Amino acid sequence: ASMRESRINKTKTVCTYCGVGCTFEVWTKGRDILKVQPHPEAPANGISTCVKGKFGWDFINSEERLKTPLIRKGDKFVEATWDEALSLVSEKLQGIHQQNGSDALGFIASSKCTNEENFLMQKLARQIFQTNNIDNCSRYCQTPASAGLMRTVGIGGDSGTIEDIAAAELIIVVGANPEESHPVLATRIKRAHKLHDQKLVVVDLRKNGLAERADLHLHPKPGTDLVWISAVAKYMIDQGWEAKDFLKERVNNVDEYLNSLDKFTLEYAESVTGLTQETMKKVAEMIHESKATCILWAMGVTQHMGGTDTSTSIANLLLVTGNFGKPGTGAYPLRGHNNVQGASDFGTMPNYFPGYEAVEDDTIRGRYEKAWGTKLPKEPGLNNHEIVAAIHKGSVKGVYLFGEEMGLVDSNINYVHEAFEKLDFFVVQDVFFSKTAQYADVVLPAAPSLEKEGTFTNTERRIQKLNKVMEPLGDSKPDWEIFQELANKLGADWNYQNPGEIMAEAASLAPVFAGVDYKRLEGWDSLVWPVDKGGQDTPLLYEDKFAFPDGKAKLFPVDWTPPYEAGEGYDLHLNNGRILEHFHEGNMTYQSDGISHKVPNPWLEVSPELAKERNIETGALVRLTSPYGKVKLRVWVTGQVKGKELYLPMNTRKEIEAVNKLTSSYHDKDTHTPNYKEMQVKMEVLETK
Ligand code: SF4
Repeated sequence: ASMRESRINKTKTVCTYCGVGCTFEVWTKGRDILKVQPHPEAPANGISTCVKGKFGWDFINSEERLKTPLIRKGDKFVEATWDEALSLVSEKLQGIHQQNGSDALGFIASSKCTNEENFLMQKLARQIFQTNNIDNCSRYCQTPASAGLMRTVGIGGDSGTIEDIAAAELIIVVGANPEESHPVLATRIKRAHKLHDQKLVVVDLRKNGLAERADLHLHPKPGTDLVWISAVAKYMIDQGWEAKDFLKERVNNVDEYLNSLDKFTLEYAESVTGLTQETMKKVAEMIHESKATCILWAMGVTQHMGGTDTSTSIANLLLVTGNFGKPGTGAYPLRGHNNVQGASDFGTMPNYFPGYEAVEDDTIRGRYEKAWGTKLPKEPGLNNHEIVAAIHKGSVKGVYLFGEEMGLVDSNINYVHEAFEKLDFFVVQDVFFSKTAQYADVVLPAAPSLEKEGTFTNTERRIQKLNKVMEPLGDSKPDWEIFQELANKLGADWNYQNPGEIMAEAASLAPVFAGVDYKRLEGWDSLVWPVDKGGQDTPLLYEDKFAFPDGKAKLFPVDWTPPYEAGEGYDLHLNNGRILEHFHEGNMTYQSDGISHKVPNPWLEVSPELAKERNIETGALVRLTSPYGKVKLRVWVTGQVKGKELYLPMNTRKEIEAVNKLTSSYHDKDTHTPNYKEMQVKMEVLETK
């Protein structure tokens, strides 16, 4: 190698931008990123990446990065040393704990950060403050999918791998937009569709990129998926197309489920969903003709008042047709954040220890009490939605939040901001001074993924290691180091030398991670949990048994919950979701020139019909109003949306445009996931173009 090349560092990392979990090498010289180099051995992506993975990294050198801890003095923030900041955090949290009890504190974890960091935050909450009041942003997106799967097949994760999806004969995508939200996965689907004659059904309000290519695009009325899914199941059973042997040998509750389907006739489904009976029959026929069908879904399904039930109905349909346990079959909730799967897996949930073991179970809790040398609370804690309500009531007084833009991404953010203002003490730990940080008492500067070691778990349940590409900027630190220093200030004796030691502790406590070890995660190696002690992992679930004590799945009867109605005068339906170029609230991608140049602001998608009716063109300025707030936006007239349905990207640069000024505090009845996708608004035209 030449002198010049020898100064280039090449470090393998995991992309920080979505649940596909692409891995690649980052080539750097000092703090300059020279290139992102994918590699054929990368398990999720091979040699592919998307625009975010390839060009989305300038933010690490942004002038806007937090470089020192900040302490609020009146209306201002002043720079502080780590010792000053952490002493204050420790004193204040301890004060609230002593005066108001354990449950006066709430902890909000991060789906952007590593498994090890999430493990430590739940340990901090549970071991040091004896509270289960901890949650992460999967509550805003995918908890209903996990809950629906736990009810039916036992594990709240994808049934197989991205490679297994490519092996399907029929893929059904419901309420998801993989082309923009999971680009590399969408590329794989497109390839299989083109080269291997894989069939594709897309169910979405928008004619998104994948819908354009699909064999069939269904556009049901918003919030009615459970009804057509159940009707398809009933129709197939009426035709005698159910998987009889599979049901007999591997599934419980069959009769109870069959009875529950009585009302879901094709006529009923047609009247509720607006889909024709022929369309639903066609879907049933396609499933019947396919030897391996899988269903992929995302927030178009989960973010409804009946999100868990609709997720359950998907699992029911797959069970009835025997579509589990073989490559190309199964249930695939598509995880949005890079580590939303891992944050929940590693215990930042109010009811679960790591590995989804219930906090209420005495034996399990006993295992943690012994390891951590303290009594732990038996009652499940508050989820993030309940924490906000508890702040309003005055029972939660202190919150510690890391790597989560709750002030922008929770629903009904005006209500959330009012809660933040009522807090006695609020700690926000992040890479940037976020919208949420404006409400903080102490802001702690964290290091992003390129500046630390750890693991992320992608949508396939695949645990992959990221390695430190460069040192943290300024005084910022990896989140795990911050937690450790704080814990020790609070009197604990944590002594992790590196994230590998944190993972070793998690592996010793949570059976599904028993064989997860950094030695098995070197280079391009990865492990798909559950991983047994010997290091055997499980890319494909349910081959011989489902994750219940008797090994059998459970059909779970569900009924339809009609979507929330905003009331008189709110005549337009507002949908929202991701766009390709930006990640989540946009804090990182809007700081990356390569990306923010392409898409500097969000826009509101308006159908040609509605544009004509209101006499507006692309570029028009409108105000949307819901019962909860107002936003001002520029319009893009596009045939992607139809009639009175609008679409707004959730990635916002300015608070004035944030979709969550409009969303309500209503939520899925089983998991409290906000009903982001059930919003009606009215639109005023401010400028016609
Ligand atoms: Fe990153 Fe997802 Fe793009 Fe892969 S598909 S490069 S993980 S954002």
